[in-house]
Amino acid sequence: MKGFEYLEKELDQMRQDGVFRSLVPLETDQDAVVSIDGRRVIQLSSNNYLGLTNHPRLKLAAVRAADQFGAGTGSVRTIAGTFSMHEDFEKQLAAFKHTEAALVFQSGFTANQAVLASILTKEDVVISDELNHASIIDGIRLTKAARKIYKHVDLNSLEEALQASSGYRKRLVVTDGVFSMDGNIAPLPEIVELCEKYDALIMVDDAHASGVLGENGRGTVNHFGLDGRVHIQVGTLSKAIGVLGGYVASTKAVRDYLIHKGRPFLFSTSHPPTVTAACQEAIQVLIDEPERIERLWYNTEYFKKGLQELGFDTGKSKTPITPVMVGDEKKAHQLSDKLLQYGVFAQGIAFPTVQKGQARVRTIVTSEHTVELLDEALEAFKKAGQEIGIITE
Ligand SMILES: *Cc1c(COP(=O)(O)O)cnc(C)c1O
Repeated sequence: MKGFEYLEKELDQMRQDGVFRSLVPLETDQDAVVSIDGRRVIQLSSNNYLGLTNHPRLKLAAVRAADQFGAGTGSVRTIAGTFSMHEDFEKQLAAFKHTEAALVFQSGFTANQAVLASILTKEDVVISDELNHASIIDGIRLTKAARKIYKHVDLNSLEEALQASSGYRKRLVVTDGVFSMDGNIAPLPEIVELCEKYDALIMVDDAHASGVLGENGRGTVNHFGLDGRVHIQVGTLSKAIGVLGGYVASTKAVRDYLIHKGRPFLFSTSHPPTVTAACQEAIQVLIDEPERIERLWYNTEYFKKGLQELGFDTGKSKTPITPVMVGDEKKAHQLSDKLLQYGVFAQGIAFPTVQKGQARVRTIVTSEHTVELLDEALEAFKKAGQEIGIITE
């Protein structure tokens, strides 16, 4: 069909620049070892931190829910698509997060869009960390509020932005809890103090901290002992929780408001029973099997140390997200390709996901990797890194 020549031209340029990427289909379930192109490879690119994607209890909950309640819901939440399990799950989530209420969205992405686009008006201002997730950036694009960006985790820059915005009705500071490309943790205690000093609202997107940090994986707010001092916590059910969805944990007023004004909530169909039932089971597994989080952190320390001992630069990571910094985009993709040859799946990440000149291979270990698998992966990193000249022998 004619008409898209202009897109093909741009795609050709991407191929020439070595930045065109194909999707990589898995032929198995998501696990520590997966099959790609008929080959066994060690998975180091998923967000399946706790191995819940294929946990027997979650699978059984999903099967039972499909059997009893069907494959779909047939409506948006606000018309005919709220099942009692949706509300039960939201109560369970709120109790888990130590908040008054919670509301579930189709994804973490839409949760951010719903909140940021709805709770602020042109009388307000949103103040955002420059490295916040794309879904926050897009959410901010949808709000009528004024916008200010502060330098990444820079408290002076944040304070300047707060001081410069005293004329607005409400100031909302928004930050990732754990930054998805570098694996560093936001300095939340200091951010919360600044927000309290300037009477600003604070919102934390805990997508990469849910299931990872805090008691039983309650997130960064709980990790830092800040329960009750963060106005809005956004989380995802798609990463460590192992299923799909996003949520806002906050006050009852925020929940009620989002039910009326959160456009993804109003205009997109609710989660099928399989998803909700599996999520309910996942929260219970977090409580019943804390050893998964212990194994995750053991593996994190082990693998990070192993990479550093080989001479790799792992940036400022403090969490299971461990980047191997390369710099040049082509080289990062080369490293990723070589790793795949040696049986390790670790994706290269380049501009626009990270800044130009900061390309990297990003790894995420899970609780399900054995030490033997991690050693095998480190051996592959050693060979590939030496061949490309990122580390010396
Ligand atoms: C992954 C991620 C999201 C999106 O979550 P989904 O449930 O996958 O849509 C939002 N915010 C951050 C910080 C993320 O890392």
